[in-house]
This record gives sequence, C-alpha cells and structure tokens, in this order.
Amino acid sequence: MPIAPDLPAASAAALRPTAGAAPAPRAPEGHLRRAMHTQAMVLSFYVIDAVLLAAYAAHGSIAALVPVLYGVVGCALTGSFAVMVRMGLHRRVSGALFTTVQLLSACSLMLITAAAVPQIGTLLLLTLVVALATAALQLPLKHVLIVSALMAALSMAILLVRGERFGMPLNDSWLRLLASLWFAVVLVKIVAINLIGAGMRKALSASNARLALALDQVRELSERDELTGLPNRRSILVQVTEEKALFARGGPAFAVAFLDIDHFKRVNDRFGHATGDEVLRAFAKIVTGRLRSTDHIARFGGEEFLLLLRNTPDAHSAGLAAERFRCAVNEYPWSDLAADLGVTCSIGLTVSRAEDSVADMLARADAALYRAKSDGRNGVRAA
Ligand code: GH3
Ligand code: MG
Ligand code: MG
Repeated sequence: MPIAPDLPAASAAALRPTAGAAPAPRAPEGHLRRAMHTQAMVLSFYVIDAVLLAAYAAHGSIAALVPVLYGVVGCALTGSFAVMVRMGLHRRVSGALFTTVQLLSACSLMLITAAAVPQIGTLLLLTLVVALATAALQLPLKHVLIVSALMAALSMAILLVRGERFGMPLNDSWLRLLASLWFAVVLVKIVAINLIGAGMRKALSASNARLALALDQVRELSERDELTGLPNRRSILVQVTEEKALFARGGPAFAVAFLDIDHFKRVNDRFGHATGDEVLRAFAKIVTGRLRSTDHIARFGGEEFLLLLRNTPDAHSAGLAAERFRCAVNEYPWSDLAADLGVTCSIGLTVSRAEDSVADMLARADAALYRAKSDGRNGVRAA
C-alpha cells in the first residue's frame, strides 16, 4: 500500500544554517531515510496480506499458490520501488507520479488476486479501498481521480464477470477469526499510515519554519548596511515615502537631511581603508546614539547618510537637530582611532512641502548639502 515516498523537496533543504537557535537544515539523507521507511512499511503490508492469504490457503479456502504469488509479486514490486528510491528516481520524476505508479501497481495486484480468488474477493477489495484512500490524502486531485476511475472501472468489470462468486467466507470459526484478523489489519494499516502522515506534516511545518526564518534573514539583509549595521538606502527610502504619504494625507510635516563626511577620501588615503571603515562605523554610532526614537538614519551610500526627522515642521527645529549631530561628530575623540585623525561632516536639510515628491525633497537636501560643502564644510545648511 503506497504512500508518498517523500515530502516535496522543500527549498528549505537548500537553506544555510543560521545563527543562534536556528534549526539545522534537513540533510538529503533524511528524505531518503523517510522514503525508505515508507517502502519498508509497504513491504510489511504485503507480507502481512500474504500471511493472511496463507492462512486461508491452510484452511483450504484458496490455492496455496495464491499467497506465494501475492507475496513474491508484492515484495518484488516494493523491492523495485525501493531501488528506485535509493537511486533518487522518486526525486527526479515528481513524487506524486512515483506514488501514483506504485499505487497503481498495488491496486492491480489486489484486483488480480480478487479476480483469482473471488471467494475472499471482498476482503481484497477492502484492502484496495484502504490503499486508495490513503494515497488520496497525499496525491494531487487529478491523480486521485484518474486512479480511482481506473480502479472503479476495473473492479466493476471484475464484479460483472465474477461477481456472483465474490464473498467473504464465514462458515466456521477459523474463517470468522481470519475475517476479523483481516479487518484488524486494515485498521492497523490506517493507524500506521496516519502516523506516517503526522510525521510528514511535522517535517513540513519544520521546513516551513526554516523557510520563514530564511525569508526574515533575507529581508533583514536586504534592508541593512553590512558595514555599519544601519538601515540601507532602500530601507530609508521606504520610510521617507511612507512619511511623505502620511504628510499628504494631513499627517505631520517632517524633515530629511543628508550628512556627508568631509574629505573622507583623504581619511582613506592617509590612514588606510580599514581606518576609513572604522570611521564609518563610529560615525554611525555617534549619530544613532543621538536619534530620537521616532527618527531614522540610514547609510545612503559611501560616506553619505540620510536622516529622517519625523514630526519636524520647520527648518529651524530640523537645523537644531542637525547641529547636534554635526557637533557630536566634530567633538568625537577621533584621535583614539588614529593619531592626528579628525572628522567633520556637512549637513544639508529640508522640510516637507505640500507640492513635494520624495525626489524633490532629496534633491533639495542634496542642494543644501552642496552649499554646506562649498561654504567651507563642517556646517549645516537648509533649503
Ligand atoms: P567631500 O568633503 O566633498 O564629501 O569629499 P569626500 O572625500 O568625502 O568625498 P568623495 O566623494 O570625493 O570621496 C568619498 C570617498 O569615500 C571615496 C570612497 O573611496 C570612500 N568610501 C566610500 N565607501 C567607503 C567604505 O565603505 N569604506 C571606506 N573606507 N571608504 C569608502
Ligand atoms: Mg564626503
Ligand atoms: Mg559624498
């Protein structure tokens, strides 16, 4: 009785291990092991069926060859599918197709056996129904409909031809015991399959959790600047755009400011690129340490940062905040990083206007920054 040999190869398998308490990605061996467990279970089902058939044969209800053939064919089929799983074939074709083919082979064997020994055909049809119902839980609707229609047509044909001989012998206590055993086995199969299904659902939800974690990391990476740990250009532009939309709907005015490190190229040239990087990190710390909780700063690119000051209606209050940042940078003990190192920054700011687009605002702040530079640097200008 086949069930899906494997979970869909969730892309989570390709995810990197993550820091902290992140679960390790599932190794491909895990998929293989689960698929092989499934084949082992199918094999055990065939063996149990063959043993029950042998008991009927021992009683004389059916020919001794029937359990032998059923067992041999069932084991040979499962062995072939197990080899295909080992070779990774079930992952190369779709898992659904693999399961459908295995289901078809199982159902065919049960139908042929039912036709061969119609006196216990009802029991074999019962086993076939369990196989179909189980696979239906895991196969796409199209596959289920095709297999079910095919099996319905074949069993109808068999019942039309040999139906009068179909039955479930209960004439003596041995046969009644065997029939009860057959029912019990059907129930056990249903429980076993449900247990496997639960394991698969668990694995699926674990892989979904890994996927969600990876998506969070990707999102985080796409929004952060690696060097300074600050939000990046994309992230601050989203925030400025949202703030602009709020302002357009009657929300509070806000200001943006470009902060650009003065003569940063000289810092690199004189003290080396590594010190330049240290300066960028320290600069980010200085500014973030002085931010109001509602404001945001991001590394816009190179040695240029963009500040979003929420709820800042006029250039004067924006200027006071900018001056605070400029002074903090100017007064920072840069010589702790490298002897003779001094760092200043120039700031260009502007406040939101009704007719503005985000691009207009940024262009104005950039023009103000340009003025701050041309006026001698280490200053704040508004536009
Ligand atoms: P100005 O005062 O006019 O802004 O002059 P500047 O030298 O700061 O500006 P310029 O645009 O001429 O040079 C910026 C330099 O910043 C050049 C580039 O190598 C450096 N830079 C950009 N990104 C990084 C970085 O991540 N690390 C380091 N160390 N340097 C960077
Ligand atoms: Mg600069
Ligand atoms: Mg610059």
